[in-house]
Amino acid sequence: MAAEASPAKSTRRIGAHVPVAGGLVRRGVAEGVKAGAETVQIFVGSPRGWTPPRVDERVADDFRAQCSVHGWPVFVHAAYLINLASPDTVTLERSVETLRTTMTAASLLGAQGVVVHAGSSVDGDRTGALRRVAKAFRDVLEDAPPVRILVEPTAGAANAMASTLASTVEYMQAVGLDELGLCLDTCHLHAAGEVLADPAVFEASLRSLAADLGPGRVDLVHFNDSKAPWGSRRDRHESLGVGTLGEDALRSVVSSPALAGIPLIVETASAADDVAYAKWLDRPGTVE
Ligand SMILES: [Zn+2]
Repeated sequence: MAAEASPAKSTRRIGAHVPVAGGLVRRGVAEGVKAGAETVQIFVGSPRGWTPPRVDERVADDFRAQCSVHGWPVFVHAAYLINLASPDTVTLERSVETLRTTMTAASLLGAQGVVVHAGSSVDGDRTGALRRVAKAFRDVLEDAPPVRILVEPTAGAANAMASTLASTVEYMQAVGLDELGLCLDTCHLHAAGEVLADPAVFEASLRSLAADLGPGRVDLVHFNDSKAPWGSRRDRHESLGVGTLGEDALRSVVSSPALAGIPLIVETASAADDVAYAKWLDRPGTVE
């Protein structure tokens, strides 16, 4: 694998999801610096709650200024409870509302994208759920703040709406909105049964995704190893290089021509080590 050289000069940004409990600037920016990040992802409210994200304008100005000093593109991860495919009308309405308020906060923070999970049909009625998702995204985008939504396929637990690249294509085509981007998570793809370790197979899958959805749809990669085995449909992030994905699969992601230049964000407890590892894979010979 070592002979499969990455592009000689990589321009992609490599960063981390950083905690902001204790302050967007005081904690979030400090954690980004500590991790050696070139881009950061944050939560703007409780990731496991419905509390609407509220960001103070002065804090937002300060955060934006700090991120621009560091040259960081910012991504916001929306709450996990959001499910735009939910058959429950209360959950569906809350999901639309929470995603909108998250976008408002993200826009205030100067974020480039808001990552939201593709959701679950809950009851297994995929056709009905695809209709709900299509309507929900239209509701969200009505008078929406100018932030791109990035749909993230999940690991493929029961009734997941998008997990494999094939189900993701079906989902995005059913939604039919070209302004939506994608955030691909290496741990989720691996758990969903996509083959990453063989660069030719992985590249063919990404080319087929681009052929079906059009070019430029992938805006971000969540670069995580996996604790759970291939095809397990379980979402358990692991530090890079020590999980079931391993070095070959991670290398095939960083050297993929289809993903050239796309930022990588690690979502692990060992952010500094993993950012360094990702830079080492991406820029052989340039990182100590
Ligand atoms: Zn992720």
